[in-house]
Amino acid sequence: MKPVQRVYLREVASGLVLTARHFFVNMGRHLAHALGRTEARGAVTIQYPEERRPYAPRLRSLHRLVRREDGSPRCVACMMCETVCPAHCIYIVAGEHPNPDIEKVCTEFTIDLGKCVFCGYCVEACPEDAIRMDTGILEFSSYSRGGMIYTKETLLSLEPAGPDGKPRSPVPIPADRTP
Ligand code: SF4
Ligand code: SF4
Repeated sequence: MKPVQRVYLREVASGLVLTARHFFVNMGRHLAHALGRTEARGAVTIQYPEERRPYAPRLRSLHRLVRREDGSPRCVACMMCETVCPAHCIYIVAGEHPNPDIEKVCTEFTIDLGKCVFCGYCVEACPEDAIRMDTGILEFSSYSRGGMIYTKETLLSLEPAGPDGKPRSPVPIPADRTP
């Protein structure tokens, strides 16, 4: 065997030893944790989705529309979010609000989340605090592009995440998955 080959094999063997050492050390820690003897530490894996790391408070998750006390949308259809959105994925139709003190309300409010880049500009631009990205919901998906279009009713039905950052609303079922 040439000297260069000997060096190569030595490096492969040391890599295998290192991997095996991490495997057995982490397995031992997990077993001890499962038996309630120690705190789990060392291993970087968690049992997702049953176990989740706390989300950062500033995390931008699935949007929701904020409601007034009477349940109607707080949105006054000013179109600021639609205008500022760099992905052009917000579609709003304005209508008259039954309350004469409120000039307008959105009769339609749709976000195409297949196009959204989660920049949060819509939240920042809103003068009424009517749209937020604080549901904590990240695992939304669909089988088609149409299923990623979220309507006003869906966005109004969502709740903010709990104090631990975990979602309080179930992940909405997109239209293309409705039985
Ligand atoms: S997060 Fe950004 S891309 Fe998504 S809807 Fe809001 S403004 Fe548009
Ligand atoms: S910026 Fe706020 S109030 Fe204006 S249309 Fe968007 S959500 Fe409604």
